[in-house]
Amino acid sequence: MTNDHNRKITIIGAGFVGSTSAFSLIAAQAANEIVLIDVNTSLVRSQVMDLQHSIPSWGQCQVKVGTYDDIRDSDIVVITCGANQKPGETRLDLIKKNSAIIKDIGPKIFKANPGIIVIMVTNPVDLLTFQLVRMFPKKQKQIMGSGTILDTARLRFLLGQHFKVNPTSMHAYIIGEHGDSEFPLWSTANIGQIPLAKYPGYDAKKMDRIFNQAKNAAYAIIKGKQATYYAISSGVAHLAKAILGDKNSVLPVSSLLTNYHSISNICLSVPSVIGRNGVKHQLRLSLNTRELRQLKKSARTLKQAAKGLVT
Ligand code: NAD
Repeated sequence: MTNDHNRKITIIGAGFVGSTSAFSLIAAQAANEIVLIDVNTSLVRSQVMDLQHSIPSWGQCQVKVGTYDDIRDSDIVVITCGANQKPGETRLDLIKKNSAIIKDIGPKIFKANPGIIVIMVTNPVDLLTFQLVRMFPKKQKQIMGSGTILDTARLRFLLGQHFKVNPTSMHAYIIGEHGDSEFPLWSTANIGQIPLAKYPGYDAKKMDRIFNQAKNAAYAIIKGKQATYYAISSGVAHLAKAILGDKNSVLPVSSLLTNYHSISNICLSVPSVIGRNGVKHQLRLSLNTRELRQLKKSARTLKQAAKGLVT
């Protein structure tokens, strides 16, 4: 880790998600230096020029095209390279293409900097996080996927609209797979300590519709504009700030579970304490019978799909 005066983040993949993550990091003043790497050299050059021109409006930050050598003195690497979902594709459909990329770049990252914190964003995010943890088991605390940070933000936004409450005051999470088997933690969701089910305006059927809208948002957005990026890039900046500021923030990142409600040897999202060394610990949630069943189903789905990882 470098000191607070040199907060450096390298982003691998300068497409929609990588470039907007850089933009969110600049706007949030989260780093002093941002490096972008991409196999598409003309794209990465153009993205960097465009990003550099935003700096006079936001404040000083070095932004440049880089190489894996830049990881040596970086604090965080954000992985956003690889294929994205095409209309109708699920996140799990991307596994072959993207796990071959992780197999190639994983060793380059940790060779350059054994102490680096890695934020995996590329999909299927839980499986690629698991792949990297499997390749580098001793680095498991340093490796996290953005997981259900995005899905939780979507849920909180929609609940905030429904209950007419600021979404930052909505205490509700989606956990499990960042994908079709994810589920909401309704049993403990609350607004200012009032259980959601007792809050004026609560309607169980409406809650189910809101959850499905959050879960299927990516399909709806991709249909209209080929990719999703603003919300995930905001989540990346939030997570990077939690790490660099050693904030002990609770965020639903994807990380390796070991004997978590009897689930082991797979990565998925549960609320976790995030600080300068990565995932400090995962919160041991009280789950009702339904939620426990859903968590186990999510783990089974991912374990089955993990067989498709390139080894
Ligand atoms: P994109 O196609 O716009 O960008 C991907 C970039 O990766 C391209 O510029 C490509 O040249 C580059 N690339 C490919 N192989 C590379 C390699 N080996 N090294 C360096 N660069 C390489 O795609 P996008 O819309 O930015 O999405 C990127 C990934 O993020 C996808 O897998 C997508 O599904 C995922 N995503 C995740 C979340 C989440 O919540 N976790 C949200 C949105 C998108």
